[in-house]
Amino acid sequence: MKFATKAIHAGIEPDPTTGAIMTPIYQTSTYVQESPGKHKGYEYARTQNPTRTVLQNNLAALENGKHGICYASGLGATDAILKLFRPGDEIIASNDLYGGTYRIMVRVFQEFGLKFKFVGLDNPANLEAAITSATKMVWIETPTNPLLRLVDIAAIAAITKQHGLQLVVDNTFASPYLQNPLDLGADIVVHSVTKYLGGHSDTVMGAIVLNDDEIAQRLAFIQNACGAVPGPQDCFLVLRGIKTLHIRMQRHCENAQKVAEYLQQHTKVSQVYYPGLESHPGHELAKQQMRGFGGMLSFTLHGDSMPEAVRVMESFEVFSLGESLGGVESLCTHPASMTHASIPKEEREKNGLKDTLIRLSVGIEDVSDLIQDLEQAIG
Ligand SMILES: *Cc1c(COP(=O)(O)O)cnc(C)c1O
Repeated sequence: MKFATKAIHAGIEPDPTTGAIMTPIYQTSTYVQESPGKHKGYEYARTQNPTRTVLQNNLAALENGKHGICYASGLGATDAILKLFRPGDEIIASNDLYGGTYRIMVRVFQEFGLKFKFVGLDNPANLEAAITSATKMVWIETPTNPLLRLVDIAAIAAITKQHGLQLVVDNTFASPYLQNPLDLGADIVVHSVTKYLGGHSDTVMGAIVLNDDEIAQRLAFIQNACGAVPGPQDCFLVLRGIKTLHIRMQRHCENAQKVAEYLQQHTKVSQVYYPGLESHPGHELAKQQMRGFGGMLSFTLHGDSMPEAVRVMESFEVFSLGESLGGVESLCTHPASMTHASIPKEEREKNGLKDTLIRLSVGIEDVSDLIQDLEQAIG
């Protein structure tokens, strides 16, 4: 099955009792048993819920993986993966990470004795140099947030395989429509489903997709034992959102390309970070490992004036100023004070994240309205 067909059909059957074509919202906490221990495969809704099961199977199909496991948020999924490790285990992560991922690593799991190293993994040679006998896992995002750097998944996977390490890819920015890390050699894919998969800014959820049976069983155990499960209504909303993922992503990519090209020629803009631009250092790699360049981009203004960046963000009429991304509506964010505020300023600047950087999640509105909005806001 091709992607668009899988988005609409994979893992989804008409409801066996009524024939309802849409998966029902099984809003229940428990299931009646015929006799103690004799049931239909469902005992308690933290452990299993039919709406969730359908979504998990659909997500697995979209990432070309065997197992899908959903959590109450993207960070709930990250939490489950980090719980696979023990004190003293070392994780190497890219230094251009979602702020919340950095925070759970450093502020939560480091306190429990896990060790973290943050390295620029857009150069795979840096990984080889960072690996020690304690290293167990490598964690990357690509394209990265908010600088849209590209990390070569296949090159990193070749190194992790050689050293027997797990490779996790946060595929939130690309979505499974544009990139499938498992096909490129990754072991585990993690998503903030909140973003493109849900697609309508109405749900918070996370997911993991992987092939390994044993690790999948441990992650499902953690899902049940620790309890960060999504509710059935949210699973329904995401199933509904996914049915148009391919169409939405096509328009996100088209609009973002046009917005990036517009910004690039603007006299007040100093730098545009978008993998679809030929000037982007990851452009060739993006063409190889992605099927489109996505809907996310960042830019800075000449002079790096903070009041000027703030004035632009306050002047938008179509773009809304808010955290998050991947919804049908266009959003703008100020990473330094919003999504990445949990990373110390010194650490941010070391990684090239300026306080004047503006990040856009380009929505699927009419692109001429988006460009006009940028025109009037930047001036
Ligand atoms: C939003 C986000 C997360 C965290 O997901 P939540 O659903 O907000 O918990 C992780 N990674 C990336 C790249 C994100 O954008």
